[in-house]
Amino acid sequence: MYGSDSGLLRKLVFLLFIPGILGWGPEGHYATCKIAEGYLSEEAAVAVKELLPESAKGDLASVCSWPDDIRKQYRWSAALHFADTPDYVCNFNDHRDCHDPSGSKGRCVTWAIFNYTKQLSGYHNPTLESKYNLTEALMFLSHFFGDVHQPLHMGYLGDYGGNLIAVQWYENKTNLHRVWDDKIIESALKSFYNSNLSSMIKSLHQKIETGWFNDASSWGVCPNNETVCPIQYASESTVCACKYAYTNVTPGITLGDEYFLSRLPVVEKKLAQGGVRLAASLNRIFSPEAQLVAEC
Ligand SMILES: [Zn+2]
Repeated sequence: MYGSDSGLLRKLVFLLFIPGILGWGPEGHYATCKIAEGYLSEEAAVAVKELLPESAKGDLASVCSWPDDIRKQYRWSAALHFADTPDYVCNFNDHRDCHDPSGSKGRCVTWAIFNYTKQLSGYHNPTLESKYNLTEALMFLSHFFGDVHQPLHMGYLGDYGGNLIAVQWYENKTNLHRVWDDKIIESALKSFYNSNLSSMIKSLHQKIETGWFNDASSWGVCPNNETVCPIQYASESTVCACKYAYTNVTPGITLGDEYFLSRLPVVEKKLAQGGVRLAASLNRIFSPEAQLVAEC
């Protein structure tokens, strides 16, 4: 009885914080998907364009925040945006950590990425395809690639991935989760990119191409030739959350230049990584080889 009351309380507190747990802000999701668009193979670009809703006008990035926009109609999807670890635990364990707030196993961002990848793999197989809405699958998958690279989507359960840690961002009251969703990106846009998101995306693209991110060439590779490897992405984000997001942060602290300038490179890398990996995965999903496998 006591246990179920506390479970209900956790669920209610969780629902109160839903608006803050939905991932990078629109700019972050747009950037991730825009970077991905630049690395799509011809086959993947054709498939993506075919699946996008008309409102997207052929631009994947324009619909990458869609899963946040429809959260009121698709309440079941709220738990699919993240996967927190027990407090102060800095390694991600999918079996332990992939569940929704009521404890239902398998309802989290890693499962969602596997699930929508599987649905999209039916693109070349009309029988499988007809069972699913592949337009929604594409928009969910692209969005969740962004979320799994936001370190505080793999934060601690007890503070709802930083949502319960009130902080000041320069003069403004906010919480640690929002700092990572929006504030660092917004401050970077103002300070370095003349508030122009396209300039920031161009700069990230150059950093990928010129080796500023010196391991970028291996980002898209998954072990054992897997199509996607979200458990690896989540594991990296958990480490980033411990190492950078939570470090030297106490409730009520004012975060300014020191935190901003030392964490911005991490945010930039995660946006770039999400984009490169999304493209690599879509290229595998829509490759002609995948078609052959599906037809066998
Ligand atoms: Zn999200």
